[in-house]
Amino acid sequence: MSILADARALDAQEPVCDACLGRVFADRSHGLTNDERGSSLRIAAALDDDEPYESVDTADCWVCEGLCDEFDEWAERCAAAVEDVEFDTYQVGTRTPPLVEENELLFREGAGLDEDAGELFKSEFNREVGKRVGRLTDTAVDFGRPDVQFTLDLEADRVEVDVHSAFVYGRYRKLERDIPQTEWPCNACDGSGYVGKQPCEKCDGTGYLYQDSVEGLTAPVVRDVMDGTDAKFHGAGREDVDARMLGTGRPFVIEVMEPRRRHVDTDRLEGDINAFAEGRVEVEGLRLADYEMVERVKGLDASKRYRAEVEFGDAVDADDLAAALEELEGATIEQYTPHRVDHRRASLTRTREVYETSGELDDDTHATVEIHGAGGLYIKELVSGDEGRTNPSLAGLLGVDAEVTALDVVGVYGEDEEFEDEAYFREETAGDEEVDTDEPEAEASGDGDDAADD
Ligand SMILES: [Zn+2]
Ligand SMILES: [Zn+2]
Repeated sequence: MSILADARALDAQEPVCDACLGRVFADRSHGLTNDERGSSLRIAAALDDDEPYESVDTADCWVCEGLCDEFDEWAERCAAAVEDVEFDTYQVGTRTPPLVEENELLFREGAGLDEDAGELFKSEFNREVGKRVGRLTDTAVDFGRPDVQFTLDLEADRVEVDVHSAFVYGRYRKLERDIPQTEWPCNACDGSGYVGKQPCEKCDGTGYLYQDSVEGLTAPVVRDVMDGTDAKFHGAGREDVDARMLGTGRPFVIEVMEPRRRHVDTDRLEGDINAFAEGRVEVEGLRLADYEMVERVKGLDASKRYRAEVEFGDAVDADDLAAALEELEGATIEQYTPHRVDHRRASLTRTREVYETSGELDDDTHATVEIHGAGGLYIKELVSGDEGRTNPSLAGLLGVDAEVTALDVVGVYGEDEEFEDEAYFREETAGDEEVDTDEPEAEASGDGDDAADD
C-alpha cells in the first residue's frame, strides 16, 4: 500500500492527532516533526481526494489522549524542577501510560500495519520534551551520563529529577603521620560513638578511630562549595596510616552527590581545602573531571617512589650499602604475603620489579633510602627480608638486620600513561557568582590498595 493509503486507513480511526498519525511514519524523511508528518499526510490525502480538509484537536486524540499537546508543559516543569541547579547536560526519559501503549498497538493493527511501525510514543516524547528543555535551560542533551536525568511519569503526573554526581580530581600530600586516607569508623561502637547509652571509651564518643582523615579534611569542603548532599573520596591506592604522602602527591577524585553547583573555581577550591586542612593535608592540581576519572584513579597501574628511614642491627659500610642498593636496582623481588598484611588475603608469592634505588648512611647504623618500584611492592619487607619471605632484600644482601623506622611515599606515577589525561577533564566555564561546570572498600588495618607498604 502507498503511504497515503496507509494514512487514510489510520485516519479512518478518528479522532487521531497529527503527532500520533505522523509517528507511524517517523522513519520517513528527515527534519520533520511527527506533528508535521501527520498534518502533511492529512492535507495530501484531502487534496488527493479533493475533499474538505479537517484538522483534529490533539486534546480529542484517542491514541495519546491529548498528551502530544503537552510537550511544552512538561519541558517547563522540568526546567522549573532544576531552577536552582547548575548543570550542562541532561537527558529525558518517559514512562508511557500502559493504556497509551495499548492504544498505539490497536491503532496500527486497525490499519493493518506492523505493530512497531514508525517509532514509540516514548521516543517522541523524550525527543520533543528534550529539545524544549535544552532551549529553556541552555544546556545540551547527553545520551551517555548527563548531569541531570529527568524522568517523566505521565500517569503519575510527576517529573522525577536525578542530579548526578560531580567530580573533582587532584593530588594530595599528607604531611603528618597517623592520618588514614578515608574516614575510619570506630570498631568498638560501629561508628555510633555509643556503647549502649554510654559514650564509647575507645573513640571518646566520636565514632572515629582517627579524628582526621584525608577524606575528612578535603571532601566536606568540596561538598559545601558544590552544595551537594554528600561527598566521597576515591584515592589512587593509599599509603599506610603511619606513612606520609609527600613529593608530587597521590591522585584522587572527590565525588559530590547531588550538587547544585558545578561551575566552581578550582583554584579557589584548592585554597579553601588547604586552609581547612591547616597543613595536615595539602591538595594541588584540582580539575573538574568526568565520572570515568574515578575508575581511572582506582584502576590505573601505578608505580610508587618511597623514602624510608632504615635502622640496621649492626654497623654498615657505605660502600656495602651502595653495592646492595645497586644490586636491588632493576631486580625482580619475590615476596610471600607478609604476616602483617590482612589475614583474609590469600597467601601467595608475588613478584615485583624495583626500578630505581638510591640512599646514604646517616650514621653507621642508620640510612635514608629511596626506592621506586612497581605497584604492590612491599617496601618494609624489601628492606627487612621478612624472615626470608622476601628475596632479595636489603637486609639479606648486607647480611645484617634492617628495619624501616619511618616511611614516606614521595611519588605515585601511572605505569604506562599519566593519570592526568585531558580526555577525563571538564572545561571550566564562566558562571555567574563564581568564576566558571561504585564503592571504595572499608579501610582495614594495614590493608592498602597497593599493598600494606606503600
Ligand atoms: Zn495523539
Ligand atoms: Zn567508638
